[in-house]
This record gives sequence, structure tokens and C-alpha cells, in this order.
Amino acid sequence: MDEPINIAKQQGESLDQLGDLAAFAESPVFSALLKGSACQRSSELERCVEALGLRHHIEGDLLRLTTPPTELDITWLRGQLGAGAKIHYDRVVDSTNRIAMEGSLTGTSCFIAEFQLGGRGRSGRKWISPYGDNLSLSVAMVVDCSVASLGGLSLAIGFGMVEAFRAQKVEGIYLKWPNDVLLSGKKTAGILIEVDPVTAHRTKVVVGVGVNIGSFPHVDVIGQQATRIGLASTLSRETIALATIRAIERSAKRFVLQGLSPIVERWREVDAYQSQEVDLLIGEDRVSGTNVGINHAGHLLIETTSGLEEFSMGDVSLRPSVGESE
Ligand code: ATP
Repeated sequence: MDEPINIAKQQGESLDQLGDLAAFAESPVFSALLKGSACQRSSELERCVEALGLRHHIEGDLLRLTTPPTELDITWLRGQLGAGAKIHYDRVVDSTNRIAMEGSLTGTSCFIAEFQLGGRGRSGRKWISPYGDNLSLSVAMVVDCSVASLGGLSLAIGFGMVEAFRAQKVEGIYLKWPNDVLLSGKKTAGILIEVDPVTAHRTKVVVGVGVNIGSFPHVDVIGQQATRIGLASTLSRETIALATIRAIERSAKRFVLQGLSPIVERWREVDAYQSQEVDLLIGEDRVSGTNVGINHAGHLLIETTSGLEEFSMGDVSLRPSVGESE
């Protein structure tokens, strides 16, 4: 299915629905729908199915999912990861990052859900994805670094994910600074890192990742063009989950040992806008220039009419240049 899904615009704005949806996802009716059965239609059923972003159709008094999603094979994933990482799996959560931030940690833990009602993006933005089609996961770990020294980690993770997808022969994958994964120039994965100091030199890190695999939201809903990995690859959701978790672990370890040095050298290999004209959106302001790359702090370097300028992440969004007209 190459059409964007028509998921509710308000996803994430009604977290009071969480208990209802979580209970619905555990109900026999939902299990029957996932098996392809038709169920007695009711306004409550339609409301839940729509809130989960599931395509469905009505057959008289009955409701049936148009393409019932297949749930993740967590047993396989646990087997592949072995004792190295603990997996917590839920059908419906508010946010995998929120759960991952809670509680204490021993080793690496992965929190995976089929659906997030309030998937988090940067600066309070939302990650929107329907039930079961894609990947929503967070990896929690404790690293021997201060919070202040983790500034470039999100670039390192984005770089590692691009490497991992390319290693799986997904063509056309690039990175948009700081860490959006693009396929054919459209957003296919987002990364949100949250941190919590354990001591002055130890920090709990949660890396949340959303990957579009089977579907993606309409541009009207998210305000930018998106796409899905499934258009460039037949990899299963489980294989992509495994590659993603391993990439996060590997990239975090590499960052703790070497910082951004290995990445700065190779940034041009992954940079979606290398040497291109770009716009940097900073609140209401826009800075235009040529994208030059990054420095060792992970700051973006733009050659503007005033000379070379560097920008730290903050609430800054990079876009291809729209020229003088806008
Ligand atoms: P940018 O740097 O482009 O401004 P961001 O890095 O701030 O983006 P994220 O925090 O990674 O954005 O993710 C939130 C944003 O991603 C949303 O504001 C929305 O535009 C977009 N988005 C939400 N859901 C999806 C999705 N499933 N696929 C692609 N993009 C999405």
C-alpha cells in the first residue's frame, strides 16, 4: 500500500483514551479482528479502531480490518538478542520513551509497542504511526558519561541507523541533520533521545526510534513528506527491529569511546543535503546557505552570505532550500 494512511490528526492529544485503547487491544474482539474476522459493528468499536489508525470497512452490521496487521514476533527477537538486552513488549502505550525513562536499569532494556498514543518527537512534537504497521521502540542504557558530554549522541545514533539500513541493502537511505533518516528524500525514521543523570559521570540514556515500514502518515497530518522502508526493501519488521536495536547499542558504545570523530570524517557519506542549498528554520527565522557538513561538536556548518556559520541542535529544523519565492 503506497498511499499514506489517513490516521487521526489528533493522535497524541487525547491521552485519556489510553486505558480504553490498551484494554481494547487485549480484548477477544481485537484478537478476532487481527485474525481477519468480522465483528459486530458499534460506535465504540469504530472509535477504537480509528484511534489505532487501522484501516477497516463495514459489511452490513459487521466491521472488518481491511489489512489486519501481523504482530511482532517478540520470541524471535528475544532469541536473537539473547541475554544482552531485555525486551518489554506492549500492544498499546502512551510512549515507549516514557516507559523507558521510568524505573532503574540493569544492562540494556528495549521497550517495544505496536502503538503509541503519544509518541514523542523533539520539542513536544508528535510521532504518529498506526497500530502494528511500523516500529516504535526505545532502548534504555546507562553510559559512563556526563549529560553535558552527550550532545552529539543523536547524530551518532542516526549515523549508525543509516549504516545498519545500508548494510541490509536498503538503497537511497540518507541522514538529515541532526538525525532524521530519509528514504528517497522523505522522512522514514525519527529519533528522540532523552537523558537522566545517575551521577555526575553516569547518565541514563533512552533512545526512542520510530521507523515507517508498512505505512506513513499523510503530509497534511505531519506537515512534511514521509515514506516507508517497505518501498525499498522486503525486510521484516523483526529484522528491522533487530538491526535498529543493534545499531543503537553499537553507536552508543562507539560514541562513548570516540565521540563524533569517526562520524565527522564520514558525514558526507550519509548527508542528505551535502553541498546543497538549504534553509535552517529557527523559530520564526530562516537562515539560508550552502550545507557544508558538521564539526566535532555535531554542529551544522552553513556557508551563508555572512560567512561560515555553525548551528547547534536546539529547536532548529533543516530543510532543502525553497529559494527566494517563499
Ligand atoms: P525536523 O528536524 O525535520 O524539524 P524533528 O527532528 O524535529 O524534525 P522529530 O522530533 O524527529 O522531528 O519527529 C517529529 C516530527 O516528525 C513531527 O513534527 C512530524 O512532522 C514528523 N512525523 C511524525 N510522525 C511521523 C511519521 N510516522 N513519519 C514521518 N514523519 C513523522
